[in-house]
Amino acid sequence: MSDQIRSSILRHLRYSLGISESQAALADWRTALSLALRDLAMDPWLEAEKRATDEDRKRVYYLSMEFLTGRLIEDAAINLGVRTEAVVALDSLGVSFADLVAGEPDPALGNGGLGRLAACYLESMSTLGLPAYGYGLRYERGLFRQSFDEGRQVEHPDEWLGDGSPWSLGKPETTHRVSFGGSLDGETWNPESSIVAGAFDTPVAGYGGRWVNTLRLWAATADANLLDLGRFNSGDFFGAADAETWAKTLSRVLYPADETDLGKRLRLSQEYFLTSASVQDLLERFTSSHTDLERLPEFVAIQMNDTHPAIAGPELIRLLIDEHGFSFDRAADVAVDVLGYTNHTLLPEALEHWSVDLMGSLLPRHLQIIEKLDARIHTTYGPAADNVHLIDHGQVRMGDLAAWTSHRVNGVSALHSELVKTDLFEALDELEPGRIVNVTNGITPRRWLKLANPALANLITETIGSGWETDLDRLRALEAHADDPAFLDAFGRAKHAAKQVFLDWARETHGIDMPHDALYDAQIKRIHEYKRQLLNILWTISRYQQIKKDPQGAWVPRVKIFGGKAAPSYAVAKDIIRLVNDVAEVVNNDPETKDLLRIVFVPNYNVTAAEKLIPAADLSEQISTAGMEASGTGNMKFALNGALTIGTLDGANVEIRDEVGPDNFFLFGLTTEEVAERREQEGHARAAIEASCVLREVLDAIAAGAFSPDEPGRYAGILDLVWNSDWFLVASDFDAYDSAQQVVDQTYREPQEWQRKAVLNIARMGFFSSDRAIREYMSEIWNVGPTF
Ligand SMILES: *Cc1c(COP(=O)(O)O)cnc(C)c1O
Repeated sequence: MSDQIRSSILRHLRYSLGISESQAALADWRTALSLALRDLAMDPWLEAEKRATDEDRKRVYYLSMEFLTGRLIEDAAINLGVRTEAVVALDSLGVSFADLVAGEPDPALGNGGLGRLAACYLESMSTLGLPAYGYGLRYERGLFRQSFDEGRQVEHPDEWLGDGSPWSLGKPETTHRVSFGGSLDGETWNPESSIVAGAFDTPVAGYGGRWVNTLRLWAATADANLLDLGRFNSGDFFGAADAETWAKTLSRVLYPADETDLGKRLRLSQEYFLTSASVQDLLERFTSSHTDLERLPEFVAIQMNDTHPAIAGPELIRLLIDEHGFSFDRAADVAVDVLGYTNHTLLPEALEHWSVDLMGSLLPRHLQIIEKLDARIHTTYGPAADNVHLIDHGQVRMGDLAAWTSHRVNGVSALHSELVKTDLFEALDELEPGRIVNVTNGITPRRWLKLANPALANLITETIGSGWETDLDRLRALEAHADDPAFLDAFGRAKHAAKQVFLDWARETHGIDMPHDALYDAQIKRIHEYKRQLLNILWTISRYQQIKKDPQGAWVPRVKIFGGKAAPSYAVAKDIIRLVNDVAEVVNNDPETKDLLRIVFVPNYNVTAAEKLIPAADLSEQISTAGMEASGTGNMKFALNGALTIGTLDGANVEIRDEVGPDNFFLFGLTTEEVAERREQEGHARAAIEASCVLREVLDAIAAGAFSPDEPGRYAGILDLVWNSDWFLVASDFDAYDSAQQVVDQTYREPQEWQRKAVLNIARMGFFSSDRAIREYMSEIWNVGPTF
């Protein structure tokens, strides 16, 4: 096999790229390898599509504005079962696989957890042999690249397409026209303009290489009609291209805001562009082999990843009525049977809504359909639905629209799904009991263990054999080794090796150095007030102050690792980033503390950084305000790699703690109910600060400019929030967090005890495989059976 890969690489170098061996640069070898691997995916890819068609299988269409795939080469090599062979082939050509992969772009076509979930799910659908398409947008610019300038976040454009993206196949014959604006004549829509969506397909190989699905990303392509030749010929070269420029803008950039609703015209246009192209595409596939669209639900399931593609209901209804002669009621029934909606947040600022004016001007026919859907709800349920409004106060509410046009609505952790029933869609749960269900998120063990942590993956395979890659519950067999000193030793060596990989990467990529022998304590995720990076850095300052008071004390050396991007317009989040960097500047340069406490803010957190960092971590910070993190998946990646969690009873933390056992999880903090009560108490923040000398001292130091001597008032805004409003209860949870951190230290002082707990965490993480999650979607939502 390695010979075959070798000659395929050479052939692509010469005949696909037109470059001779002696002149090839590393990037050329990378492209040639990508093409060689893509070739290996091609037969199973075509075969999967053919088999799904021949066997008339139900297909799942996963609509998502974001797919955070991570680098593709190594993942494909592993899943196609040729990683070793690829390494050998390249070696024989004098090229290092590791060097090659280290320079591969990481397509950042997502903001964070939601996009990464979509990527894990696609990989699991392929591994399970489920015929599926991921539909998304081919943003020219993904999420910005982050650097720091004097501690402040600086955003740079992400140029992921620079390498020509050898993995994506342009499909010029696959296009759909997406229309916008114009007017209604009764129920006839006369759009003002239209844009052409062109398909780019990336293969998503399942583990074992038996099945390959498609990630189809739409790009807005220039349409010949868009260039105004009249204007062009009369010399107005720029004006002639106005329409073309607008069209291309649609897939130009990913909106960099996580968990906020923007309400922007371009964003709604992007959402409709994705949705319309995808729905047209799947209908075309269906009608090419079926005649009876009434039977669509037997062959098609559409899953909406959050509300971003929630216009899918009205769009499907529109197409069924306007192009296929359905009545409104039949069309609406079919749409509901086909659609499913995954809710990812309860945060009011993240629940999308569009003004009726905007929706009416951009998508008048859809607004009309939404009004009819609203009326239909009220005729169906009568006064019981009096509180249900798809349109309210001049706003179209996309959460309600998605929920009422889906046959299943799911939350993403047990706690979150309960809150979806009680706090978000109460009427739906009452009128249609059983419609709201839970599917706790999962992560793929292929990328997040086998690829990211080879040392641990090899130890696991040596200890319990292979098979865990596709049956993660088998990790349970590690429990029998949790008290074996030789095994714990080996686990310690694997953790040590992972730390070395991370250290080398941090030094080479970012010029960051840190001690090797320390407790690696990590919080990496988007910067958001509810995730409470602020609590973490305030505690870190307190640790600094304690060490300064007792420099000879028996402190457990810690490296506090932060990583994460702030939305460019999110001022508080950016202040938090700057505070962490300012504190790092002081602490890391203090000779008295620098061996006992180090603060590292890894710039540009992305999937690649996560793969390096998570295997190296000892402690996973999952400290969101209870009731606010829908699930989290970072928490799962850490525990699977043998980090212990310090966390609140929030999102999937609750289930992680149940699975690994309360003794193997550092719990602290107010519960969801207590959070609600505390928020009602007048002056809760001030009271909590006054009751905590430790916190008081921390806040006083910041106020005195201890970390911003040239500008003592720099953090007045943050301090004001903590003292006077503290919606996220940083002050109220501070002492409990501090106590939990003391327990962390005590435990870490007993290496075998720590390792035993870490091994039990790994052993009990089987439930959090995305394969389990996808099986639940298949049986509870999509109504499809297994292939293999
Ligand atoms: C897993 C992952 C996330 C989600 O992390 P949470 O801690 O669950 O918020 C975000 N970004 C990247 C790059 C990830 O890999």
